[in-house]
Amino acid sequence: MVVRQYAVIGLGRFGTSIARRLHEAGQEVLGIDINEERVNDAEQYVTEAVIADATEKKSLVSLEVDTFDCVIVAIGDDLQTNILTAMLLKELGVKKTIAKALGRRHGILLEKVGVDWVIYPERDMGERVANQLLSPNMLNYIELSKNYNIEEIVIPKHMEGKTLRELDIRAKYNLSVIALLRDGEIIVTPPVDQEFEKEDLLVMIGHRDDLAKFSSL
Ligand code: ATP
Ligand code: ATP
Ligand code: CA
Repeated sequence: MVVRQYAVIGLGRFGTSIARRLHEAGQEVLGIDINEERVNDAEQYVTEAVIADATEKKSLVSLEVDTFDCVIVAIGDDLQTNILTAMLLKELGVKKTIAKALGRRHGILLEKVGVDWVIYPERDMGERVANQLLSPNMLNYIELSKNYNIEEIVIPKHMEGKTLRELDIRAKYNLSVIALLRDGEIIVTPPVDQEFEKEDLLVMIGHRDDLAKFSSL
């Protein structure tokens, strides 16, 4: 696995989740917060944690943020601090910047500043919850465009023991099966006569409405 260097600025709930997960996955994570208590707590789940004010250019310079592969602005509630930090990161030439936005207008500002990936945690999580409700058998998905997704869907009970050919999935449901996940193994482009088993996960590509229908079967 490639080990990359990340810096997470702002160790609230959002920043903490990102930092912890990256660190668990073996990545190098520097946690930065203005609050000493937060920095002390962070020491258990990051590679290194430092107290610094991210709106001070000289602090960011001395932390050499420009040498990191990716810097995440997880300062939430204070708009000014969040945007100023993002601007400084761009100014210092950070390779990849990610920032949390509170709402659409805030997000537009961050995009103007040149942030590479603007995240709307409440909006995105709300959409995920709704999608999960619409597609109860769906475990995971990737949005390819506004209307097309790749989704992992648990095989419906009545399809166990049947094959792609018998089920005629492309013709009947307008979906293509690109892979099959079984016992942690992946079978890419499963043969048309492969029988499905209980708990198989189908990786399917198609229109989100067709996917929602299939995953409610
Ligand atoms: P979350 O919404 O992620 O749970 P929170 O609501 O506790 O976080 P926020 O105001 O969103 O707190 O800020 C997240 C973190 O950013 C806090 O721990 C805060 O101390 C830190 N922070 C705020 N301003 C700065 C700054 N100028 N430099 C570095 N860290 C900062
Ligand atoms: P198609 O033109 O749709 O590929 P085909 O006449 O070439 O069909 P086969 O490839 O033998 O026939 O497959 C028979 C049927 O099985 C297809 O019509 C399709 O409905 C279904 N099928 C085959 N492969 C897939 C797949 N990867 N995903 C979904 N359905 C499939
Ligand atoms: Ca908050």
